[in-house]
Amino acid sequence: GHPVKLSVQLHAYGDGHQLMLSRDVTALAQADAMRRDFVANVSHEIRTPLTVLAGFVETLQSLPLTEDERARYLDMMAAQSARMQTLVNDLLLLSRLEGSPPPGLNEVVDLRALMAQCEAEARGLSNLLHPADERPQQLEVAEAPPFELTGAANELRSAVSNLMNNAVRYTPGGGVIDVHWQRLPDGGARLCVTDSGPGIAPQHLPRLGERFYRVDRSRSRESGGTGLGLAITKHVAQRHGGELQVTSQLGQGSTFALAFPAARVRSMAPPEPDIE
Ligand code: ADP
Repeated sequence: GHPVKLSVQLHAYGDGHQLMLSRDVTALAQADAMRRDFVANVSHEIRTPLTVLAGFVETLQSLPLTEDERARYLDMMAAQSARMQTLVNDLLLLSRLEGSPPPGLNEVVDLRALMAQCEAEARGLSNLLHPADERPQQLEVAEAPPFELTGAANELRSAVSNLMNNAVRYTPGGGVIDVHWQRLPDGGARLCVTDSGPGIAPQHLPRLGERFYRVDRSRSRESGGTGLGLAITKHVAQRHGGELQVTSQLGQGSTFALAFPAARVRSMAPPEPDIE
């Protein structure tokens, strides 16, 4: 097991007797260590783009550059600041998810609109990462299902788009990404995002929802990841009474699923009959 950490207090009384109080503070010490790790991680994630940005600024200030070169530097600077913006947005979203009791989880969420938005975003990303001269990815998104979810629409949208965008980012050109909803035997519902990407070795699976946990650091950065997507997704699922499920086979691909309990699923009203 883990080493136990004790806090010991010794009280001495005037009559000579002593009282020793000892408390198990293992959990507190762990929480403290996690907080320190988190701050260190955030600082590092922010420092990297900031350093690059500062370097570009210095170059712009000190070197005579052609119009083209200037434009190129400005583009790279825009990319770095966009990256920091995404990171800060993800951090804020995560702290909102962790800090507050679930607010407004009773919106009726139209999955057609939600899936259409997430699909458009994923296709845009796929086209960006695999330009016309490369093998395209095959993105297959099944028709939206005949049920709705109750929950926080914006949170659910982030969760779904994180999974779809990850599949796009980690799957090479020519790969296949399949996205579909299914109804579960207990009345719940599940979104499955399956890719034919690199897969994830079993020892990494239990740690996937941890903030900043990455299987392959360089690849994640290259593809613009903040390292927070799955942590956010997992929180969203849990706040809705559901869970994030991951199955993967190294070299074959991965399936990331968002499962929701029956209480969150509403069958859609059948279409109104025509009145003659
Ligand atoms: P990131 O911004 O690094 O993608 P995430 O929290 O979204 O952060 O994912 C955490 C890590 O999980 C990634 O760095 C990557 O190593 C791994 N991962 C996520 N999705 C996939 C996938 N579809 N295929 C392979 N690895 C994945």
